[in-house]
Amino acid sequence: MKTYDTIIIGAGPAGMMAAISSCFYGNSTLLLEKNKRLGKKLSGTGGGRCNVTNNGTLEDLLEGIPGNGRFLYSVFSQFDNQDIINFFEENGVKLKIEDHGRVFPTTDRSQTIIKALEMKMLELGVDIRTGCEVVSVKKIEDLFHVKTAHTEFTATKLIVTTGGKSYPSTGSTGFGHEIARHFKMQVTELEAAESPILTDFPHKALQGISLDEVTLSHSKHVITHDLLFTHFGLSGPAALRLSSFVSGGEVAHLDFLPGMSSDELSSYLTENREKAVKNALKGLVPERVAEFLSADLPEKIKQLSVTEKQELIDKLKSLPIKITGKMSLARSFVTKGGVDLKEINPKTLESKKVPGLHFAGEVLDINAHTGGFNITYCLCTGWVAGMMHY
Ligand SMILES: Cc1cc2nc3c(=O)[nH]c(=O)nc-3n(C[C@H](O)[C@H](O)[C@H](O)COP(=O)(O)OP(=O)(O)OC[C@H]3O[C@@H](n4cnc5c(N)ncnc54)[C@H](O)[C@@H]3O)c2cc1C
Repeated sequence: MKTYDTIIIGAGPAGMMAAISSCFYGNSTLLLEKNKRLGKKLSGTGGGRCNVTNNGTLEDLLEGIPGNGRFLYSVFSQFDNQDIINFFEENGVKLKIEDHGRVFPTTDRSQTIIKALEMKMLELGVDIRTGCEVVSVKKIEDLFHVKTAHTEFTATKLIVTTGGKSYPSTGSTGFGHEIARHFKMQVTELEAAESPILTDFPHKALQGISLDEVTLSHSKHVITHDLLFTHFGLSGPAALRLSSFVSGGEVAHLDFLPGMSSDELSSYLTENREKAVKNALKGLVPERVAEFLSADLPEKIKQLSVTEKQELIDKLKSLPIKITGKMSLARSFVTKGGVDLKEINPKTLESKKVPGLHFAGEVLDINAHTGGFNITYCLCTGWVAGMMHY
C-alpha cells in the first residue's frame, strides 16, 4: 500500500486548490471525491457561470464574509483574490469582472474553471480518484488511515475539504464534521445561511422577474442588490443577505427605485399625466411589475385620485412583503457553523490538537455572501492548507 504525503477528501474549490498547492510544494498527493465528477456544487454557482472570485479590496472581502471573516487575515496575506485571478489567467482562463466585483470566466461556463483546476492537478501529478467515498478516517501513530468502500489509503497529512451541509445532493453531507468529532474537535451549531425567503406574496404575478439594484429592508437592515421573485417568494443576493435577519412573521419592504425619491416619482407621474399608468411605469420598472402595480387603477395617470397616486408611489418606494419563513439548511446556499476555529491554527489551518490534520473551505465555521466570497475563501484556505509551512 502506497503512503502519500497528503490525502485530501472532497473535490470542491477548497479540495482542488489544496491538491494543486500540495503538489506544487512537492508532496505526493491523493484527492478523493465521492461524486463521479469534480466540483459539482461549484458548477452551479453564479447561475451556472461560476462566480470564481470577487475583485474587491481586503476590506470588501471581509465585509462579504460576515461569518468569521476576520479569521482569514493570515490566509489572505498568503493567498488572496488577486492570486486567484492570477492563477486562472496564468492557466489560460480569461476572466471578466461584473457588477459588485463578481468575477466570471469570459466563456460564462463553469466547466472552464473546473477544467482549468483539473488540468493543473493533472499537470502537477495529483492522483485524482472520483466515485470514491471515504467512509472512515483513523490516525495510527503518525499516519492517517483513510478508508473507502473498497480500499484504504495512508498519508502523513490529511486535508478535509468536504464542504458544509447545504445542497446535500451535490455531495456535501457533513462528513467532515464527523471527522472533526472523531478527533474530539468541536463543531459549532450548523444553521442555514444565504437562504431564499418564503413570502405570502402573489407569486404567480411576479414569478421569474429579476430586479437590478433594488432595496429590500427590514427594521434597521437595508440591503441594496439584485432580487429575484420565485414561485415561493424571494431569492437573489438581496433576499439571501436579508435572510440572516428574519425567521418568518416579519414584514419586509421593497423599494423598486432606490435612486429616485418619492418627490421625484411624483413629479415624473405629473409630467406623464397624459399617459396610461402602465406605460409610464414601464419606463421605470420591468413590464410585468408595471402591470402588477397598475392592475386595479384607472387607465390614465390623470384619472388617478390624490390617494391613488400616493398609494402608487408608496408601493413603488416601499411595497410591504410578508415573510412567512425561509428555506431549510438543505435548500440554503451556504452553511453557517462548522469546525470550531478556536481549534484551528489560522496560519496553517492545521488542527491544534491533531498534528497533520487540516481543514479548508466551508467545512470550517466560516460563511460568506454569494457573489464569489465563499468561493474566494474556499480557494484561499485550500491553497494555504496544501502549502508546506516552514
Ligand atoms: C446553488 C448555489 C449557488 C452558489 N452560488 C455562489 C456564488 O455565486 N458565490 C459564492 O461565493 N458561493 C456560492 N455558493 C456557495 C459555494 O458554492 C460553496 O461555499 C463552495 O462550493 C464550498 O466549497 P468547498 O470546497 O468547501 O465544498 P464543496 O464545494 O461543497 O465540495 C465538497 C466536496 O466534498 C465531497 N465529499 C463530501 N464528503 C465526502 C466523502 N465522504 N468522501 C469523498 N468526497 C466527499 C463532496 O462530494 C463535494 O464534492 C453557492 C452554493 C449553491 C448551493
